[in-house]
Amino acid sequence: MLTGVQLNAAGVATEENVLRRRTSNAASNTPEAESKTHGYQQRITRLADCVALMQMKSYARGPWGPNRLNLSAIRLVLNGLSRHIGQVSAAIQGHLPEDLALSLDGKLTEIRRLIAAVHQRNLQDLALPLAQVSKATRAKLSAKFHVGRLEIVDAQSSTLDPFMKFALRTTDGHLIETVRIPLEKAGRFSVCVSSQVGCAIGCRFCKTTQGGLVRNLEAWEIVEQVRIVRQSLPKGSRVSGVVFQGMGEPLANLNAVIQAVNVLSHPACQSVDQKAMTICTSGLPNGLLRLKEAKLRVRIGLSIGSAITETRRALMPIEDRYTLRESIEALVVYLKGTGQSPMLAYTLLSGVNTSKSNADALRQLALDLGQRCGRMPRLSLVAYNPIGAQDPFLRATEAEAEEFRNWLSSAGFPVVRRYSGGSDIDAACGQLAAKRAAQSAPSASG
Ligand code: SF4
Repeated sequence: MLTGVQLNAAGVATEENVLRRRTSNAASNTPEAESKTHGYQQRITRLADCVALMQMKSYARGPWGPNRLNLSAIRLVLNGLSRHIGQVSAAIQGHLPEDLALSLDGKLTEIRRLIAAVHQRNLQDLALPLAQVSKATRAKLSAKFHVGRLEIVDAQSSTLDPFMKFALRTTDGHLIETVRIPLEKAGRFSVCVSSQVGCAIGCRFCKTTQGGLVRNLEAWEIVEQVRIVRQSLPKGSRVSGVVFQGMGEPLANLNAVIQAVNVLSHPACQSVDQKAMTICTSGLPNGLLRLKEAKLRVRIGLSIGSAITETRRALMPIEDRYTLRESIEALVVYLKGTGQSPMLAYTLLSGVNTSKSNADALRQLALDLGQRCGRMPRLSLVAYNPIGAQDPFLRATEAEAEEFRNWLSSAGFPVVRRYSGGSDIDAACGQLAAKRAAQSAPSASG
């Protein structure tokens, strides 16, 4: 199956469809820059679509072969080039109404209504008539923007609780994951979003990183994940939290993540309180410092792995680049600058980081952090979700986890064993996307 290419009745990819599926930041382009790049993009787009048609014929001819592989690779390169070289229509979900009103010299109240209809009532076409939004405003917006969409490829529901996991396909054919997490209060959900396709950080207990980093997600692609989950909720329920803990290291894609947080928290968009958002990170110090400058009110969840240096290095190679000490220094600056409470996340791996000495090291780290920022950190113990074949780790047993928790809480720390639902489905980060990619290799790569 060919993905992402819309064909007209004559079997030719239409320019309009192809251009509309591009993601971009056209709002920041000047008209001159746009017209200059438009020609290049059109030519590259046409080339990509010719390759797509050749590829389709190749599928019709027969089995998998090097020819098809080459065509897939060529098409991916052309699509990527086109996506980056010229940007003619941006996905509106990555933008704030105030910014659009300013850049388009439009009426803010009308733009807010239009944006609210996209985020909250799933409006698909910006040009369609909408109550109390003038034709002129709709024309202005639809000339520059479109409603970006991620395709739902798979949605697995847990039989144990309302946990749900989505595999979503980007317009350029990559698979990402999003998770719907039920909160303790009935009818309230958190959404675990991806911020990158793949990840370069290389944590050994993570499936996502096994294929390396493919690309950053754009702000609208992060925001859209929340809209998709919102649509899946039973009546009367709502999204009241967002956690950046899906595929990718959020601080390695900071501009898009900051913009996504601003959009998600805007009342006309998803209206999720920033204080109910958590950015989970392996601890990139520069990212933490930049995040402080962005003046968001989000919580940071720092992934520890182990507070013993050698063990952490074996689990998280990032330790070789930035030590945990450096990450903690930057975290202290963030916490002091924002007044947020610290949170440390710790994935329990049986026999690897669950010993008393690991608990002692973690307790000492948390004590020091608490003293420096004036608030005791919350320790979040995360159950490990196995990552499939050749898994080097085991989930800690109930007894192991309980003992570890007791060692910590006897020192007076608020310790939570974080919900890790959906163990009856592909719950580990990256697992469902990897499975779907393997099942649909020809189409996903094409
Ligand atoms: S746990 Fe997060 S930071 Fe580490 S490799 Fe996986 S996605 Fe990247």
